[in-house]
Amino acid sequence: MSSSVSVANENGVAVVTIDNPPVNALSFHVRKPLYEALTALRDDPAARAIVIACAGGTFVAGADITEFGKPIQQPELRAIIALLETIAKPTVAAIHGTALGGGLELALGCHFRVADRGAKLGLPEVKLGLLPGGGGTVHLPRLVGPAKALGMIVSGTPISASEAKAAGLADAVADGDLLAEAVRFAKEMADRGGPFVPVRDRNDRLGETDLAAFGAQAADLAKKARGLEAPIACAEAVRNAITLPFDEALAVERQLFQKLVSGDQSRAQRHLFFAEREAAKIPGKDLQKRRIELVGIIGAGTMGGGIAMAFANGGLPVTLLETNEEALQRGLTTIEKNYAVSVNRGSLSEEVKRQRLGLFKASTDYADLADCDLIIEAVFEDMAVKKEVFGKLDAIAKPGAILATNTSYLDVDAIAASTSRPQDVLGMHFFSPANVMKLLEIVRAEKTAPEVLATVADLARRIGKVAVVVGVCHGFVGNRMLSARGAENEALLLEGATPSQVDKTFTDFGWPMGPFQMGDLAGLDIGWRNRKARGQTAVIADMLCEQGHFGQKTGRGWYRYESGAREPIADPDVEALIRAKAAELGIARRDIGADEIIERTLYPLVNEGAKILEEGIAMRASDIDVVWVNGYGFPIGKGGPMFWAGFEGAGKIVERLEHWHERTGRAIFEPAPVLRRFAEIGAWEAL
Ligand code: NAD
Repeated sequence: MSSSVSVANENGVAVVTIDNPPVNALSFHVRKPLYEALTALRDDPAARAIVIACAGGTFVAGADITEFGKPIQQPELRAIIALLETIAKPTVAAIHGTALGGGLELALGCHFRVADRGAKLGLPEVKLGLLPGGGGTVHLPRLVGPAKALGMIVSGTPISASEAKAAGLADAVADGDLLAEAVRFAKEMADRGGPFVPVRDRNDRLGETDLAAFGAQAADLAKKARGLEAPIACAEAVRNAITLPFDEALAVERQLFQKLVSGDQSRAQRHLFFAEREAAKIPGKDLQKRRIELVGIIGAGTMGGGIAMAFANGGLPVTLLETNEEALQRGLTTIEKNYAVSVNRGSLSEEVKRQRLGLFKASTDYADLADCDLIIEAVFEDMAVKKEVFGKLDAIAKPGAILATNTSYLDVDAIAASTSRPQDVLGMHFFSPANVMKLLEIVRAEKTAPEVLATVADLARRIGKVAVVVGVCHGFVGNRMLSARGAENEALLLEGATPSQVDKTFTDFGWPMGPFQMGDLAGLDIGWRNRKARGQTAVIADMLCEQGHFGQKTGRGWYRYESGAREPIADPDVEALIRAKAAELGIARRDIGADEIIERTLYPLVNEGAKILEEGIAMRASDIDVVWVNGYGFPIGKGGPMFWAGFEGAGKIVERLEHWHERTGRAIFEPAPVLRRFAEIGAWEAL
């Protein structure tokens, strides 16, 4: 007996309890005694049935992912499952909390599963760039059918106990004492008598999806995978479960797992998993947090409306404030429409929609924000307007209220200075659409109190956001790096590339879309207005805007769009415009390859990230990766720009940056000292 696994006998039913806090991961020090206990119980006449249960808040919530990529210490999970499958007496998994990954696979090794009403069951390995490597792909289809299994394995999304019962994954759902119910169930099975068929030998549901339908489902998933290997390997493994004998399918699952676990994509996705956890570790985390029960939002435009929805979705009441009734009504109508779309899509019930709308209050009077614990400003991006708003807030907000700005670029220190309480002021930079996008940049101003930072980081988690703390600079982490990524876009066009060619290089890399498509989607007029305000120009984009071509909303931009469609069509007029401008500027056009496009867009992106680290604007290189993956669509299979720099070769990046710096003299190409050091020692180091 070990401290991680104990055995008790309850009226002839052996209860094996795993106790490995915090989530009962299947570490070596659990597997070994578990294997030994099951071996002993297999032949123990005093045990008529076996229940596997867990202490603490959850069933086994997965493998021990710190062991991934290292040599496996025996017995591995597969050996435990194989052992379970040789046991003739009934075996029952008693599931509470979450049975995920290796945890669910362990449960699939049992004859039966009894789940607590609140339990969740799933195989989320795909989110780490893997497939379930403990027999999940061959066991699950035998219980729930191939189509359902494929959906669960490729999405990685867990299902509820009731859904598991309906699908055939759980045999019973317990509303009361789970362990008592599991023991009762096990005893009943033992009384009823065998033989008890292990899941591996239950083949009756495998034929319920024909191979053609399965192939169509898998092809659709492959398309959505956008270059990720894991979802495709998952589909292959589930298909094998249908077409190959059990042991062969199991062996191929192992090979596929090994290939993925040692591959770059899974390394990148595991990096991101840890990066998100790290990002949550912020200075002041353990300080007493302020209570946030009521949130005020100023401005009910694109961002204000989305931010308000994000809080309402998290169950917090919000008061929306606008300059006049008309603007307020416009904002509320958009919010209602957005919820209605979710109801029509089936992702939200009418009842929940009503509840959420019930959390909104609307006002044009600042006095109505006096009770708010947190007030977020999302008005026009104009320093004078922001200062005026913060001046008013200073007068009405209760003492201790947190005052946040959603500014994209402006100096949060200057905004804080327009109040008498800069310690309560910080930036909360949401991304559009704010009710959907996961990222939140929390901007720490010079005087922001540590507990204010910690309170907002906590709150971000409450509303399902991935928060990263950043410092004050123009555009913070994300938008500042985005500017560096796009600085050469027009030069590339003038020198010979086309918008579609640049965008294709991006989508081939794994981005959901390229910079020109993104510009058309966001609206070219936004950048144009910003440039004019800052006395800047962009030769081609300015010309498009002068002609009224703002992108998708006007049907023309970098591309043409057929009425109402979002599919970009290359526009010969735009290409002619680019050629004419190049001729006018005396720029000789030439063929530009994908390598050069990457060197002139993504290398400056990494370089700017290195400068951001150097300046302490981001605390860690991995925080920058979290920003780029969650806010800007950097492909997860490449782990974010800073992680990708390691794959690409920092030495090569420095060398090519130097080359472009010499040719153009542009600061974006001047290699940051931190990048040079990364090239030397292979680890990111903030100064
Ligand atoms: P928007 O023009 O859609 O909305 C701004 C709203 O603020 C308008 O409804 C306006 O009536 C209201 N407003 C203006 N002055 C006000 C005042 N004094 N009091 C109350 N309401 C006032 O703009 P947006 O896109 O929602 O941007 C808002 C802020 O969010 C800006 O700082 C912007 O930089 C930032 N931001 C925008 C995005 C984006 O993608 N749009 C992303 C992140 C951050």
